[in-house]
Amino acid sequence: MTDTRTSSHTLSTEHEERQISRLLNGLSAMAILFLTGIGTKAWYADHVLHAWVLWLFTIPIIINIGWYAWSGNQTVQKTGLLIIVGLLFTYLIASGGEGNTGPLWFYVFPPLLFYVTSLKGGTAILLFCYLLAILVFQFPDLPGVTAEYSSDFKIRFFATLTFESIFCFVLEAGRLQARNKLVALAQAHEHAARTDELTGLANRRDMQSRLNTEFSRYERSGHHFSVVLIDLDLFKRINDEFGHDAGDEVLRQFARLTQQLIRQSDVAARWGGEEFLLLLPDTTLLQALTLAERLRAEVAAYPFLHRHQSLPVTISAGVCSISTSGSVNELLRQADVQLYNAKENGRNRIAPRVRSQTIAPDPGSPA
Ligand code: GH3
Ligand code: MG
Ligand code: MG
Repeated sequence: MTDTRTSSHTLSTEHEERQISRLLNGLSAMAILFLTGIGTKAWYADHVLHAWVLWLFTIPIIINIGWYAWSGNQTVQKTGLLIIVGLLFTYLIASGGEGNTGPLWFYVFPPLLFYVTSLKGGTAILLFCYLLAILVFQFPDLPGVTAEYSSDFKIRFFATLTFESIFCFVLEAGRLQARNKLVALAQAHEHAARTDELTGLANRRDMQSRLNTEFSRYERSGHHFSVVLIDLDLFKRINDEFGHDAGDEVLRQFARLTQQLIRQSDVAARWGGEEFLLLLPDTTLLQALTLAERLRAEVAAYPFLHRHQSLPVTISAGVCSISTSGSVNELLRQADVQLYNAKENGRNRIAPRVRSQTIAPDPGSPA
């Protein structure tokens, strides 16, 4: 039985990615404003080169925003922004910005980095940036390096940045842990909400939604499907004679047997009590009848056991195809009528009956 639906984990990851992208777009817009503003201030303070560099940095940011709007590629958006910000901060540390305040912008980096990348990736990039900063601080004669910082400043800068980075790491690790727990919890709830506890098969609610989905597919693209409504014969008698636990065991063993027999794309559900429903996509009535008959024969031959006691189990089933019914309700109603016919005709059989060697039921029934 395959689950074709998107899991809650995938959904939440997509949602988070979209949220990150929106945040990055907002931060990019803020960065453009700041770069333009501080650049203008530098221009009036006669720091012409500094002003131009800050203004020029707005161009790759605008291109990055535009590229994302056009392509929707989140990886390029993230990587692009991290590279631009990394280059900008390197420049600010190397040049000192205005009044040697450039390195202060570096404090923006750790939270952004951990939020946008992973803990490992963020740590690696951060260590690389530390290395760059150490290079600039230790070798003020390097080409492009114009700033000189006091020893006090360097020590305090690294100490405070290290504290901030560790805090960001711990907070982000905590956030991720809580998030993963929540996702796992949501998945467990989601699974429980659509699974039958006793048999592990889909429950009625899940089957109902799968039937609706399959019906929409049929309406859209004409993919027909069939259902098999199965009822265990004289099940009350098993409970009465062998006990309720034996009855439960039969339901579990029957579910296992059914799952072994159906295809990956088929869905088996516990429809209620000792009734089961099979949804068989892309299956004609004849194919569904053949499968139902195989299942009937296997169940009749299977040695159902409970506490070393052999239990007499047979099934009756009604089969119906969507091509002979116009709606899900009508499909189920017709399957139910067929199941009733199978019971009326002596149980341990499939209805409608087809005159074919391959699906003729064994003679004799437990009724
Ligand atoms: P028929 O062949 O006409 O279907 O006869 P039946 O005895 O199977 O039908 P009936 O509806 O009279 O009885 C169904 C029984 O299934 C009664 C109910 O106690 C039992 N049953 C329903 N759910 C469970 C379950 O989860 N565990 C057990 N052990 N029994 C269940
Ligand atoms: Mg019943
Ligand atoms: Mg029954």
